[in-house]
Amino acid sequence: MSLLQVQNLKVYFPVNHGLLSRVRAYVKAVDGVSLEVAPGETLGLVGESGCGKTTLGRAIIRLIEPTAGTVSFEGEEITKLGGAELRRRRRKFQMIFQDPYGSLNPRMTVGEIIGEAIDIHKLAVDDDTREARVKELLQAVGLDPIHVQRYPHEFSGGQRQRIGIARALAVEPQLIVCDEPVSALDVSVQAQIINLLKDLQVQKGLAYLFIAHDLAVVEHISRRVAVMYLGRVVEISESKKVCRDPKHPYTQALISAVPVVDPDLKRQRIVLPGDVPSPINPPSGCPFHPRCPIAEARCKVELPLLREVASGHWAACHLAK
Ligand code: SF4
Repeated sequence: MSLLQVQNLKVYFPVNHGLLSRVRAYVKAVDGVSLEVAPGETLGLVGESGCGKTTLGRAIIRLIEPTAGTVSFEGEEITKLGGAELRRRRRKFQMIFQDPYGSLNPRMTVGEIIGEAIDIHKLAVDDDTREARVKELLQAVGLDPIHVQRYPHEFSGGQRQRIGIARALAVEPQLIVCDEPVSALDVSVQAQIINLLKDLQVQKGLAYLFIAHDLAVVEHISRRVAVMYLGRVVEISESKKVCRDPKHPYTQALISAVPVVDPDLKRQRIVLPGDVPSPINPPSGCPFHPRCPIAEARCKVELPLLREVASGHWAACHLAK
């Protein structure tokens, strides 16, 4: 059974206008996404900024209310849960953020930040157990427990991300939504954080939904990858299949922009015309058609749905094969 199952999830934000604040239109940030994550698996989620991947991650853990669709965790639908019920389930799915500094309270010590999560879910019977658990978590993410009384500003960017990971781990989750957790870090530090996440996954059997705009990073950590464009998943399969044999023209363009290390491997860069269209008024038919190098007449009127174009390889393109 899947750990996480998302079905036809939509997140529309109203755009208000005028004195009476009438809803003029909707930003269709997420527009009918379905995906699954198995226990202990990493599913990568890639796409350019503004494609809806962060909104999708937040809607999955109910930091944003979905407009329609369902999210189920271990077979139980959590979309309609509220109050104490939701808080109880939320222990099982956590999030780490792109900007660890912005997500850590600057007035709290590291010990207080991690301890707060333990307190909310009443996971320590007394202060000694709580303190021991905080120190154990710091150690687990590669930080010296001696720094438990320090404040976030006293740490480097990479160390702050480690604190964010320790806080997420404090409640013993099964799934962590990682929202661009390394994109604000130096390349050398990125590798350390990715390796830490991989080690913790093996030790604790964690599942990750790993959101990033960098396909190279996602390929490194994910077993499967989903590619998003204008609020929809346009391709999903095993990472190797998506990266070596992309089926959707948008994925082909993304892959062509990834630098190759092997000098014998020549790759032609596909430069897409124009910018990503507005999600307020997405193009008719295939939302990618104004930028697609191989678009045909029917692409302007017919929305392509995800279909299995090769074994275990799904793409939303009329021409993919
Ligand atoms: Fe391009 Fe048409 Fe495929 Fe859309 S459906 S990606 S426009 S070929």
